[in-house]
Amino acid sequence: MFKSRKNGVNRFAAASTRQRVQLEHNSILNSEYPFRLNFYRQPPPADITIEEFELFALDRLQVLKALETAKLRSRSDEDFKRDVQTALDKYLPMKSNSAKTNLVEERRKDHISHFVLRLAYCRSEESRDWFLRQEDALFKFRFEQETAEDKRLFLETANLDWKVVDPATKKEVQQELERCVNALSLKNKSISIANYVAGETYFEVNFEKVPDLVRRRAVYVHKGKAFVPMANQLSLVLDEFGSQLSKMLQATAKALPRLEEDDRLKPILVNVEKQYIGKVYNGGEGVNGDLKAGDVDKIVEQYGPLCMRTLNDALRREKHLKHGGRVQYGLFLKAIGLSVEEALLFWRTAFANKTDEQFQKQYAYNIRHNYGLEGKRVSYSSFSCGKIIKGSLPSAGDHHGCPFRHFSSGNLEATLYKDKLTGNQVRGLLDLVRDSHYQVACTKYFEFTHPQHEKIDIIEHPNAYYELSLESENNDAMDVER
Ligand code: SF4
Repeated sequence: MFKSRKNGVNRFAAASTRQRVQLEHNSILNSEYPFRLNFYRQPPPADITIEEFELFALDRLQVLKALETAKLRSRSDEDFKRDVQTALDKYLPMKSNSAKTNLVEERRKDHISHFVLRLAYCRSEESRDWFLRQEDALFKFRFEQETAEDKRLFLETANLDWKVVDPATKKEVQQELERCVNALSLKNKSISIANYVAGETYFEVNFEKVPDLVRRRAVYVHKGKAFVPMANQLSLVLDEFGSQLSKMLQATAKALPRLEEDDRLKPILVNVEKQYIGKVYNGGEGVNGDLKAGDVDKIVEQYGPLCMRTLNDALRREKHLKHGGRVQYGLFLKAIGLSVEEALLFWRTAFANKTDEQFQKQYAYNIRHNYGLEGKRVSYSSFSCGKIIKGSLPSAGDHHGCPFRHFSSGNLEATLYKDKLTGNQVRGLLDLVRDSHYQVACTKYFEFTHPQHEKIDIIEHPNAYYELSLESENNDAMDVER
């Protein structure tokens, strides 16, 4: 449209406000990103810096986590929208076509961040499922916010394989179509069902594409084809988005080994997948906490999350922990204030069956290593829930990991009953675990066992759990004093 910048500027300056809006609109429609909505079929542009690669992905991750939290906390529709919109405004703003600035930059970031997360979350079925669920929800949220005109334009250019039912066929099945219309939905439109059907556009699609509409008998099904009214386009669009993304995730998983030959990418992708975006817990400079070795049992039993209590119980029972358990538990204790001297004392006492010589040779080095006193001299941080949940699977004799993720259903059930949860609470938690919502289950567990505490965000870190539990106790003590 604009042959040269000079012509473009002149023409733009001479245009009326209305014409100018139209010109801007046309220029966006002709750009690489004509819409806020995107099926992400094409890879992003090649010129991405390594910083953008990681930063954009982490920002999108914040949005997906906010969506997950908002969805699972089952608050009102308004709360849900407000929370998601706040996260989007902060991390991934996307203005509509009527806005004048930064549209391409915003959409480029959206495009790139989706692809990086797709790479990071394609490795395992569990990661793929999580990513797919959150991306579906994000697409739905954005689609519902789009104007009718932009939705129509987006769908027209999206190359979807939906066949419009021709007038003759529609007439033949008019009565069946009428039977599927919910009269209540037309209550305020002062239009008869027959006129509604006659004026509505119907699409013919495979019935498996719209299982929820079939289940609700909201569509007429004939010879494997469902006749879907335009009014139900959301179900169709979501199905298209979900099934395309699912296939693309599988394809990305196959291509990943080749992509990771670029050794700059692999560490970033692994880091992004296990990313915990929040406070780092490493006990601070020098770890000068005042936790004494002899108080660990009491403190962990009282305030520790289930994963750390499991490790402490196993340590006391077996007088030993394998490497994975020692690292997970040792770093947690360090972050709650166990100094290196107290840590050496604690582990030495706990490994009661080992001689001093064995302890010094096999274990003391690793304990000092955690505190940055050996090897690379890095003071290591305590593991986040994401890292524990996605980390190495515990095998026989191991006790590391997350009980909500790694316990068998029977073992978890027995543990929860032992912690005096009610039958309803236990069943609710097991349902969440069955749907792979491990951290949500842990959060609910916290709420059940700390009923006085106000509502909390999803537990992202065992040390955050510990701090909340401690805070709960302190609040109770202050209430008593008052
Ligand atoms: S969700 Fe996190 S804090 Fe809770 S048990 Fe699992 S790893 Fe521990």
